[in-house]
Amino acid sequence: MTDAVNMATDAAVDVATADEVKLATPAPSLVGLTRPELSAVVAGLEVPERQRNMRVGQLWRWMYNRGATGFEEMSDLGKELRHRLCESHSVARPAIATTQRSTDGTIKWLLRLSDGNEIEMVYIPDQDRDGKDYGALCMSSQVGCTLNCRFCHTGTMPMVRNLTPGEILGQFMLARDCLDDWPTDDGQRRISTIVMMGMGEPLLNYDNVAQALNIIMDNAGIALSRRGITLSTAGVVPAMERCGRELRVNLAVSLHAVRDEVRDILVPLNRRYPIAELMQACRDYPSANNARRITFEYVMLQEVNDSLEDARELVRLLAGLPAKINLIPFNPWPGAPYECSSNNRIHRFAKLLNDAGYSAPIRTPRGRDIMAACGQLKSASEKTAARR
Ligand code: SAH
Repeated sequence: MTDAVNMATDAAVDVATADEVKLATPAPSLVGLTRPELSAVVAGLEVPERQRNMRVGQLWRWMYNRGATGFEEMSDLGKELRHRLCESHSVARPAIATTQRSTDGTIKWLLRLSDGNEIEMVYIPDQDRDGKDYGALCMSSQVGCTLNCRFCHTGTMPMVRNLTPGEILGQFMLARDCLDDWPTDDGQRRISTIVMMGMGEPLLNYDNVAQALNIIMDNAGIALSRRGITLSTAGVVPAMERCGRELRVNLAVSLHAVRDEVRDILVPLNRRYPIAELMQACRDYPSANNARRITFEYVMLQEVNDSLEDARELVRLLAGLPAKINLIPFNPWPGAPYECSSNNRIHRFAKLLNDAGYSAPIRTPRGRDIMAACGQLKSASEKTAARR
């Protein structure tokens, strides 16, 4: 634990005081509401029926195209409606509790929700061939997680609840604010992809995740392409088909083991949906094809799941599936019951997969100096608070 905390203090940290955070969470936010829900809000503010669609369209553009952070700037809304909205609502996003910047450009935020709960969000930048910045935003779907995967730090946190659509979408809006990445239609944006790989299991909060992602993909607003969105699941089999049919986003599956005895321990959800059922759901995933392959995530744990025999079994499991594999070096946390596989073992595992024709990049750890692995920042913040 001391190592991790030392690393955190080495990196640049801005910490907001409790009062600053409180001030940033005002009246109910319109962020995350659907068009019918927005229409009901303006109806409640006495906008006549014949004007409602127009007003909803204007609000939508200001919020999701321009990224407006207040109603004052929404110049075409009419003075009266602007005034009523200011009195009753907000376009607030989650509040920032801490911001950490890694030396490699990764930014990690600890966000505070209006009920005081905290979640994490990470931006992982990259550069294209012309040196232009773009990157992936990793968002959370729940406060904590019920799955208790043995190697995952989020699983050790007691508090669990689903995030609302506004809290999910609010993460994206806030990241665009912080990266000065508005408006939507001003050329290439810096946040080019979203991965639902932060805290929580997105398919156990399907409706709220779907509502947020549908707003993010809406062409009159943020208009992010579904090809730029990846949802990562530990294998909630009954929700996978619906996700592929309705949302049609890319799928990532946290496989991590090739035999049920091992996966039952690493990912306890496997006891309900064992490997064979999970692989069948992958074969049936509606929008998977050769152009859009399913990503299988595989965390490398020394002498737990990293033998050549495991690699061979993985190849056998994936036969006939449009698949790529992400090998993730285990990101250790204080008290974790596992160690990261040695470089040797990771490379020979990768080589076997490559020789079998699979793309199997070894994900370079990003933001190690700021503990950018799932759940680690939140936990450090709780420990600091406890010490105080
Ligand atoms: N519940 C979803 C999404 C959140 S976890 C899922 O399980 O896919 C996102 C990814 O990070 C998963 O692949 C998860 O297994 C992995 N992960 C969690 N803790 C990790 C750690 N300490 N080191 C490496 N990968 C980790």
